[in-house]
Amino acid sequence: MSPRIAILGAGPAGTAFALRLLNLGVSPSDFVLIDKAKFPRPKLCGGGVTFRGTELITELAGRPPGGGVTVGLEFRSVVGNFDVREKGPQWVYDRGELDAFLLDACLARGVTLRDETTITEVEAGHESTKLAMKTSTGTTYESFAWVIGADGANSIARRASGLRGGIVGRLVEAVFEKDGGQEREDTLYFDFDPICDRIPGYAWVFPYYVSGQVVGWKIGVMDGRGVVPGDKLRSWTLDYAKERGYRLAEEKIAGWPERYWDWRTQGHKPGLLLIGEAFGIDPLLGEGIAPAMFNAVYAADRLKQSLDEGTRTIRRYELDFMRTEEGMNLWFQSGLADRIYGRHPERWLRVLFSMKHLRNLAGGGDDAYGRLVRHLPVLVAKYGMQVLREGIPSAAPMVRKRASIGVQQDASAAPE
Ligand SMILES: Cc1cc2nc3c(=O)[nH]c(=O)nc-3n(C[C@H](O)[C@H](O)[C@H](O)COP(=O)(O)OP(=O)(O)OC[C@H]3O[C@@H](n4cnc5c(N)ncnc54)[C@H](O)[C@@H]3O)c2cc1C
Repeated sequence: MSPRIAILGAGPAGTAFALRLLNLGVSPSDFVLIDKAKFPRPKLCGGGVTFRGTELITELAGRPPGGGVTVGLEFRSVVGNFDVREKGPQWVYDRGELDAFLLDACLARGVTLRDETTITEVEAGHESTKLAMKTSTGTTYESFAWVIGADGANSIARRASGLRGGIVGRLVEAVFEKDGGQEREDTLYFDFDPICDRIPGYAWVFPYYVSGQVVGWKIGVMDGRGVVPGDKLRSWTLDYAKERGYRLAEEKIAGWPERYWDWRTQGHKPGLLLIGEAFGIDPLLGEGIAPAMFNAVYAADRLKQSLDEGTRTIRRYELDFMRTEEGMNLWFQSGLADRIYGRHPERWLRVLFSMKHLRNLAGGGDDAYGRLVRHLPVLVAKYGMQVLREGIPSAAPMVRKRASIGVQQDASAAPE
């Protein structure tokens, strides 16, 4: 029997989707994973997996070997720092290792992979969707009842379907070695310094683990609106790393886009679903592994219903996703991103870093990052009270102190 379902892309979204289908009782002969890469393949990524992601990976495939464990996140800015403690640890992986582990879990359960196969065309029809697949021996065509676009930020499934997507950001990252740097191996650092230099995003410093050992530090910057030229992002990252005590360990600083979710994002046409980053990920921090996998699990559940009903359509695919915990998280994050990367980033950064209740929630260790949306009504009320007491926080520019290791406090942090 030829497979009814083609999953384009064997990254975290594609493999989570496949594993969930298997758990729902779908036969591995019913679907095929297709990827242009040969695994293990490199993927530009910090490799940080927050706690909810570690839980989902464990549930679907167990604990991957290698990688490292961190005990929390630290958010930094010129107006102060705060710690995020989740109810469990985070993981940090080399993406080649993590993705190969997830793929192996699929293969061990009988899933077929067509690797080194590039999809060059996706043509949706009434009865089926036709794919053009290019390999080293030429191009072949095959039709499937369902095509699942798990093919990442540059998804051909999205481009071919004309479905509306969210903002595309721009990121650069490289591996550095310590040259006096103070960051600890047990923490993931997120620094909103780029906002002082009109880059709507943040910089990160993550330990880089390969096979369980720290072999360097990943430092990069995210432009969450895709408006800053790549050259500027690269030179900013180099300066920042040098100031903080890090030396470039690679020949160049690589760049890659990210596609973010927003409430208008579309992900479904008859016989076609977009999942993972092809659908859209967290626009505030660019966290993609956990959101991609949670979205994939949701999509697999919806597809199984459609297979059972014998239809090629899924009613309210996007709206019902927004009602899931992960959908609500993306909605919350996109609201924050619109403010912090919007017209008055300095004001919203001051709001974020000055809210005692938020800092207490984040540092409490009772919750998971990405699951704070249920506290929104209390957060809004507390912010309202703060504004009544102290006025609206200032939108005045913030100045980044250069050439020093350590984060300085900004005198303009006080409300107007
Ligand atoms: C610099 C940088 C740092 C990041 N850091 C983090 C981080 O620390 N933590 C985090 O959670 N997220 C991070 N992300 C985001 C994260 O990497 C992605 O969101 C995540 O990989 C999305 O998973 P996915 O399975 O949807 O897509 P991908 O992981 O991109 O997988 C897509 C797969 O599709 C295949 N493919 C693509 N096109 C085709 C085609 N035409 N034919 C066949 N195959 C195709 C690719 O080979 C790939 O294997 C980072 C991203 C960047 C750019």
